[in-house]
Amino acid sequence: MRQKIVAGNWKMHKNAEETEDLLNELIDKLSHDETNAKIIVAPTFTNLASAADHLEFTNIGVAAQNMSQFESGAYTGEISADMLKSIGINTVIIGHSERRAYFHETDAILAEKVTTGLKHNMTVIFCFGEELKDRQGNQHFNIVENQLRDGLFHIENKDWQQIVLAYEPVWAIGTGETATPDQAQEMHKFIREVVEKRYGASIAAEVSILYGGSVKPENAKEIFSKADVDGGLIGGAALKAADFAAIANSI
Ligand code: PEP
Repeated sequence: MRQKIVAGNWKMHKNAEETEDLLNELIDKLSHDETNAKIIVAPTFTNLASAADHLEFTNIGVAAQNMSQFESGAYTGEISADMLKSIGINTVIIGHSERRAYFHETDAILAEKVTTGLKHNMTVIFCFGEELKDRQGNQHFNIVENQLRDGLFHIENKDWQQIVLAYEPVWAIGTGETATPDQAQEMHKFIREVVEKRYGASIAAEVSILYGGSVKPENAKEIFSKADVDGGLIGGAALKAADFAAIANSI
């Protein structure tokens, strides 16, 4: 079901104590229900269990930042879907550009991760987006269409209930450079059309599409006001409770 979502990707920030502090601040700022959005935070693996416990009776959900495509076995350092589920984590971010760029996660690997997440009944926040050279070369629409096709379009119609899309132009992530609201809308509309071509109008109309890339309290409202933008995936600004709450409340 299409809904407004604001998700915070904490990346490799915040130790156990800092996580607890930030969660307490967020609970304080976000428990007054000023936002219409579903709020999700994605702390690092070591703090997921405590975050899930801490947030159990709040309106804030918890997601993992990554997950193995494999069920179990000799994969040193990896975390499985079953492990996440066993600590109450039902949502996972797959395909973040940092995973693609620094950890060489290809579309084929991401497609497997999506399959694993779906098999375990998890909500998958699937990230994709073009690099600066792609946009400069006017290839951004092709790149996004290919990422969707190769990483996601093996799923069945029924699986879309568990999918959230996050369009994150790589040139806007952590750079301070934001897509203009019109650029975001143009791409989100295109994404909906691509989904429609493959899966039909009702699935395309029902999927939530988040924008990610240097969203801040100052620009969130305008970006979120666009017709095909259903919220945001927030990096840097998710690390400050006041900023994250201001972004969530601007939906
Ligand atoms: C992200 O990492 O998903 C992201 C959008 O980061 P930032 O908001 O810092 O650009």
